Amino acid sequence: MSDPARAGGAPDPTPRPATRLVHGGRPDPRAGAPLTEPVTFTSTYVQDGPVSYARFGNPTWTAFEDVLGELEGGSALSFASGMAAVDAVLSLVPQGGTVVAPRGSYNGTVAWLREAEASGRAVVRWVDVADTEAVLAALPGADLLWVESPTNPLLEVADLPALATAARALRVRTAADNTFATPLGARPLADGVDVVVHSATKYLAGHSDVLLGATVTRDDALLQRLHTRRTLGGAVPGPMEAWLALRGVRTLAVRFERACANAAVIAQRLAEHPSVRRSRYPGTGGIISIEVGDPADETGAIAEAVAATTRLWVPSTSLGGVESQIERRRRQPGEPTTTPTSLLRLSVGIEDVEDLWADLAAALEAA
Ligand SMILES: *Cc1c(COP(=O)(O)O)cnc(C)c1O
Repeated sequence: MSDPARAGGAPDPTPRPATRLVHGGRPDPRAGAPLTEPVTFTSTYVQDGPVSYARFGNPTWTAFEDVLGELEGGSALSFASGMAAVDAVLSLVPQGGTVVAPRGSYNGTVAWLREAEASGRAVVRWVDVADTEAVLAALPGADLLWVESPTNPLLEVADLPALATAARALRVRTAADNTFATPLGARPLADGVDVVVHSATKYLAGHSDVLLGATVTRDDALLQRLHTRRTLGGAVPGPMEAWLALRGVRTLAVRFERACANAAVIAQRLAEHPSVRRSRYPGTGGIISIEVGDPADETGAIAEAVAATTRLWVPSTSLGGVESQIERRRRQPGEPTTTPTSLLRLSVGIEDVEDLWADLAAALEAA
């Protein structure tokens, strides 16, 4: 934090998230210091300092980690991608251990777990994460409960406090992928979750120009183990990537607020649209999923046609950027079959909502 006393007022002991996003992770405000953290390009450091080699640490990573850690309420570590962070956390499961995981998780996480199942690395108990009773029933004897909320792309919402409390009582470690909610929408550590995972590629960096991941935890032993995983796995971010994410996260509050406001308007209109068979929107956030066309059509032809017809909504995978994106999820080869073939995932950007609606409505009409 920069020194609030400089502004003349009494320091606020608990700056709110939008303030922390702007002021966290700044260089010390000594006379002549740069206001923003520079990109530190180096592979090594002169010996006897706090960090000896760039695979162990980098000041540009630290600045981004400080901002995210403050927001989530723990200590963050940045990784080369969201999947590198997912891999680091899942790697903590002991050989032959048991993971309870949502059937509808992000397809990369599902693929990781399926491979672990196939190789005998881990046992997976697949659950519907919105069915709290079912998740609780799957917990006894497990090593890790993985939660994603809302899930990608079915937007199912988990009861995080109930699940975290029950898991803790059973000594089951909990991890939450908070990519969709962002720390502005949910703070899983405060709900009792042990470790949060982010694809910072999405809302945190927010401009569809960088891959980055992160973990956040309050547990020092866990932090140490994750740091070791990062160092030995070598999935470290480039300094430029960390800097782009740092620059992007400064505006998270305004971007996310606009994306959510746009999404709420569009979700309401989609829910009433005659061409939309089903729309899913958890009432908050910037992602909407809709189903269009014949559910029995394996090719999802109508959904494909809609995504091909929009002009502003970019047909592309990924989400959370300033640009609105549209994708028929089952195009992705690894997408779980729990995702309907006719499902389109909409990542609502920060453009003018009426322009977005006109474009989407025209494409729905045409298809
Ligand atoms: C994209 C995504 C990931 C993976 O992140 P990458 O940065 O693409 O490696 C993990 N979880 C969720 C929910 C995602 O949307």
